[in-house]
Amino acid sequence: MNEPDGRIELVRVCKMLYDRKLTVSAGGNVSVRLEDGTFLITPSGKNKGLLSEDEVVRIDKDGRSLDGGKPSIERFFHLALYECNPSVNAVVHCHPLYCTALAVRGEKVNCSLTPEGIILLGEVPMVGYRTPGSPELVEAVRKECAHMAMTMARHGALTQGGDLIEAYNRMEELEFQAGLQILAAGADGLPDAEIRKITDGA
Ligand SMILES: [Zn+2]
Repeated sequence: MNEPDGRIELVRVCKMLYDRKLTVSAGGNVSVRLEDGTFLITPSGKNKGLLSEDEVVRIDKDGRSLDGGKPSIERFFHLALYECNPSVNAVVHCHPLYCTALAVRGEKVNCSLTPEGIILLGEVPMVGYRTPGSPELVEAVRKECAHMAMTMARHGALTQGGDLIEAYNRMEELEFQAGLQILAAGADGLPDAEIRKITDGA
């Protein structure tokens, strides 16, 4: 993706996250990998529903701002995921209510309640609590980089994808699954044999 298209798409996805109540106020951060090996990421401290294209910050692979903007403090776990996964081109991190409710309780999101959860998300790990913006959080996220979705204890959720819409869709589905888990309290996941059938056909 080139820079002008990246800015447009990133602002669009932030607005969708905000409109769907997947993030509130300045919480969360979203990034995309550009074709020249640099990245676009949301700026620090801005409401995701009010973001404009010129506020998006371009950074290099070491997290340095290339356009004078102030990038999100969480940029280093985004960069760690891109480094781990060459096919990942977008990362979404936010604090959706149901995912965060489970993460505050210390419960993982169980994505085996419905076929859609299994297909889109699979096994979703929860990383232990680490201070936002800390190198410890970056390392905890890096350890789970093979998973396209994860939650963070007492913090929120994170998804990856081949493009921004895929990462966004995973976040929307993850929050749906977390809400379902709370509303259908105590329900079992689909049986293992059915999960295998779905995964083999996916
Ligand atoms: Zn956060």
